[in-house]
Amino acid sequence: MTGESEEIVQKKNPRDPAATGPDNNITPRSDGLCAHIMDSGEHCRAAPLRGKRYCAMHDPDYQEIMDLARSRGGKRQIATPVEGFKAGPIKDTDQLRKTLEKGINALIDGRLHPRQATALASLCNCLLKTLELSDLTERLETVEDKLRDRGEGGS
Ligand SMILES: [Zn+2]
Repeated sequence: MTGESEEIVQKKNPRDPAATGPDNNITPRSDGLCAHIMDSGEHCRAAPLRGKRYCAMHDPDYQEIMDLARSRGGKRQIATPVEGFKAGPIKDTDQLRKTLEKGINALIDGRLHPRQATALASLCNCLLKTLELSDLTERLETVEDKLRDRGEGGS
C-alpha cells in the first residue's frame, strides 16, 4: 500500500541511467571487436578476422573479394536454377497446390533459397488470385448465358 516498495524496485533496475557503471559504457573499443566506425559514428559490432583489427566486411584487404561476392551474389540471385524443381503448367488450383508442395519440400531440403521461396510464394499468391478470378468469370458467364436463354424463351 505504501510507495516505498516501488521505489526500491526502480532503483534496482539496471536500465536506470543512475545505475549505469563503467561496464555499460559502449563507446570505447577495448573489447576486441572490429575497429571500423560506421557512418552513424557507432563502432562495428562484428568480431574481427583472426589477427586483424577489422571484420571481413571492413578489412581493406577483403574489400575486393567482398565487392566481387556482392556483385556475383546479385547476379546469381536472378538465375540460380533450383535442382529437381520444375513447376510445369499451372492451370488450376490443384496444379498450384502441387507446385507449392514441391516448393516447400525444396525449401526444407535446402535446394530452394528462402528468398526464392518468398518469390515463389508471392507468385503463387498472384496466380491463385488470377485462377480464382478466371473461375469466377467463367461461372458468371455461364449464369449470364442461362439468364439470356431464359429471357429469350420467356418473351
Ligand atoms: Zn566491421
